[in-house]
Amino acid sequence: MNEHLHILWEKRPLIISGPCSAETENQVLETARRLKRIGKIDMLRAGIWKPRTKPGMFEGIGEPALSWLSAAKVETGLPITVEVANARHVDMALKGGVDVIWIGARTTVNPFSIQELADSLRGVDVPVLIKNPLNPDLELWCGAVERILQSGIRQIGLIHRGFSSYGNTEYRNAPMWQLPIEMKRRYPGMMLLCDPSHICGNRHMLQGVSQKSIDLDFDGLMIESHIDPDHAWSDAKQQVTPERLNELLDSLVWRSETAPSPETMSHLSLLRSQIDQVDDELLELFSRRMKLAEDIGLYKKENNMTILQAKRWNEILQRAIGKAVQLGLSREFIVRYLDAVHMESIQHQTQVMNTTEQTEHP
Ligand code: PEP
Ligand code: MN
Repeated sequence: MNEHLHILWEKRPLIISGPCSAETENQVLETARRLKRIGKIDMLRAGIWKPRTKPGMFEGIGEPALSWLSAAKVETGLPITVEVANARHVDMALKGGVDVIWIGARTTVNPFSIQELADSLRGVDVPVLIKNPLNPDLELWCGAVERILQSGIRQIGLIHRGFSSYGNTEYRNAPMWQLPIEMKRRYPGMMLLCDPSHICGNRHMLQGVSQKSIDLDFDGLMIESHIDPDHAWSDAKQQVTPERLNELLDSLVWRSETAPSPETMSHLSLLRSQIDQVDDELLELFSRRMKLAEDIGLYKKENNMTILQAKRWNEILQRAIGKAVQLGLSREFIVRYLDAVHMESIQHQTQVMNTTEQTEHP
């Protein structure tokens, strides 16, 4: 690893940007020039082998794009990084002058692939960034770190890009902040970057997620940018222009002078993110509870029963109060909470009872 890269590796915050995919020579060069111009980017990224969910999607330019990246590096002086998924990629990337390689989320899940990469990296001096696996499995992420460490690579960084889950959530990949924080605890001093692009899957949440990662004391960002985001050949929804990225980076607060120590901040943020997560879970549970109440409403309708069944409500109340007090919650709180839940349930049931088109329900 050359001296320049060595110094860069220690730089904080470290900002990596570039398109999701290298598409054309002009797009790579133009992106690199415009990123260079904003003066805040330390490294240029571009995917050239793209792991796509479905066949027929754009799978990357492959080896020919390496010369475009090299040209961008010569012109701007920015080191370049690409994603590798097998030994052949490593070989081509290294021959093509790539400075840093990164391992994508779809590769980190597979120990065979990681071992193949580790074997191909034996005796090589190149920094490796390891994205978290798609699924929230911390051991798998650690396993990848250990395999790459065993190959003799010393410059290893982690990239948090969120975790996939079934169904619609506001994120493309849920951040589950406690996982990268735990990685930080297990590998103190190992670079930890946030990839807000793949966490968000959209542009409007990038700022919030980036700021959050900074508040959690991450070491920098890998964030996608494109000269014409709407027409990007992959991940169009989440990419921003270099100029927009500049504004976004300007809006981030890296550390306030009046703030407590980074350790305190990061502990507080972690606790807050856990509170947010519990609140989200509570909201989902409330929603499930209301759906159950609606099903009961339908049943009552079909059987011509009244909505309010005082005896049943009394049972619910007594049972919940007993349990809540055992759990250390005050009686007053739980009665107020149950009243609110009850009112909301009655409202949902009333709606169901008064809707005429519900008779198809099983
Ligand atoms: C990417 O960085 O474009 C990419 C494919 O990321 P991930 O492996 O996080 O999905
Ligand atoms: Mn992408």
